[in-house]
Amino acid sequence: MDYDLVVVGGGINGVGIAADAAGRGLAVLLAEMDDLGAGTSSRSSKLIHGGLRYLEQGEFRLVRIALREREVLLAKAPHIVWPLRFVLPQAPGGRPRLLLRLGLFLYDYLGRRRHMPGSTALKLSNDAAGLPLRPEFANGFAYWDCWVDDARLVILNARAAADNGAVIMTRTRVEKIIAEDGAWRVGLKSQKGTWDIRARAVVNAAGPWVREVANEAAGDGAPRNEPIRLVKGSHIVVPRIVGAHDAYLCQSPDGRVVFALPFEEQFTLIGTTDVAFDGDPAHVAIDQVEEDYLLDIANRYFVEPLGRSDIVWSYAGVRPLYDDGGKSLSSVTRDYQLELSAGSGVPPLLTVLGGKLTTYRRLAEAALSKLAPHLPPMRPAWTADAPLPGGDVGEGGFDEFLTHLCDGRPAFDRPFLRRLARRYGTLVDEVLGDAQNHRDLGADLGGGLSEREVAYLIDNEWAQSAEDVLWRRTKCGLHMSADQRSVAAEKIESMV
Ligand SMILES: Cc1cc2nc3c(=O)[nH]c(=O)nc-3n(C[C@H](O)[C@H](O)[C@H](O)COP(=O)(O)OP(=O)(O)OC[C@H]3O[C@@H](n4cnc5c(N)ncnc54)[C@H](O)[C@@H]3O)c2cc1C
Repeated sequence: MDYDLVVVGGGINGVGIAADAAGRGLAVLLAEMDDLGAGTSSRSSKLIHGGLRYLEQGEFRLVRIALREREVLLAKAPHIVWPLRFVLPQAPGGRPRLLLRLGLFLYDYLGRRRHMPGSTALKLSNDAAGLPLRPEFANGFAYWDCWVDDARLVILNARAAADNGAVIMTRTRVEKIIAEDGAWRVGLKSQKGTWDIRARAVVNAAGPWVREVANEAAGDGAPRNEPIRLVKGSHIVVPRIVGAHDAYLCQSPDGRVVFALPFEEQFTLIGTTDVAFDGDPAHVAIDQVEEDYLLDIANRYFVEPLGRSDIVWSYAGVRPLYDDGGKSLSSVTRDYQLELSAGSGVPPLLTVLGGKLTTYRRLAEAALSKLAPHLPPMRPAWTADAPLPGGDVGEGGFDEFLTHLCDGRPAFDRPFLRRLARRYGTLVDEVLGDAQNHRDLGADLGGGLSEREVAYLIDNEWAQSAEDVLWRRTKCGLHMSADQRSVAAEKIESMV
């Protein structure tokens, strides 16, 4: 047997399961056909949240688990996860004040808060948070959730898996999954060629591609009908709406909610949409109707008028939702389902349906519990209190860590070190190495990106293309001009 477990898919659920399994002592291989996080997991709203609106749908279990995970992930990765204050303006014709109050009361108490503050009422006509808003939004509430760099959450879990001995293969597609002599023969294909490995168990964590992978494993040619619903969600990025330093939760006239989130220091991220999707998830993009929808909601709330020409970046992703028969697309459950098939000579295959970034760690624990009877003895669950790579910032928290970092590297300016510390946490010293000043970091590629950082990402984080570096490992692409991006891309491609 080559491996105890082969994980198909390097999105958050795949890397979460790989990290958990490797840390329990299993021999693990994860195959990702593109880059880590290139699927849905880098295209989210980037929130670790309970999901206030899920309360309306009666999803109390999901909200409770997700709220508790906020505290867990905040402690595991304080460099890439941090609390974010949300302003919820009371909208004329929107949900009644009493309903909002009740929802926030439940949100405060379902979560067993330790570090997250509770909700409060706000008089927006008399509060800095009301300044960017139109005058009709005179009252509202403030509550807290967490922000996360979603693409880096994926990378750090992959790093944790590799640090515990897992083999992580990117740009490697799983082409065949064949049951043979009570185990799986898994066919892999990369630029280097094709080859087979043997594994005791397989996890299908292929997100929007879960049906395709299930078809491979079935091997009988009959198309599977996994209960999955693909729903596109898109975001636009505009220059920071003046004064909008909090996150805003805007109620749309169609009953949905749209976030306007502070993003990358100088920008506002606005999303998302819910659109039924039946295309190829590898080629998903925002359309003009979605752009207009998001701009319209922003213009209903904010004083500063926004038009298409203000959009500096956009992205779209496909939610692989577990189909619970929810009527509207936004009401399909965001909870996950794990389906295990095993027995009578068929080796174990676990299929992941649905889920959220927020609950990936719990999902991984549940996956390992389901697989445990079919695998060699393993160590107990361990991920709840173990920091993710770079997350061991110490008792004083991220700010104190940053102060020590700045004191130790006086030739670098604080905003630069802050951005690096937000990406790498305590691993920032590995990135900077013996560099004493900016010149020691090699070529300056713009947007705060240096040649040395690119080399680090190639050597330590599986970066293999300009897009991996500019848009997933970092968001430096957003801080560059088009010319800078193409020069940086050329340089990065030459270094790979
Ligand atoms: C618009 C939007 C907003 C969201 N906002 C939030 C949010 O704020 N908070 C939150 O908690 N959640 C959010 N989510 C949900 C969250 O992003 C997803 O639940 C999660 O990313 C799904 O991860 P995954 O690992 O299942 O899928 P993916 O990230 O898509 O990973 C699956 C991977 O499998 C790979 N793959 C497929 N087939 C093969 C094969 N044959 N061989 C090898 N690899 C293969 C793909 O390349 C892909 O990388 C949002 C989702 C969307 C779309």
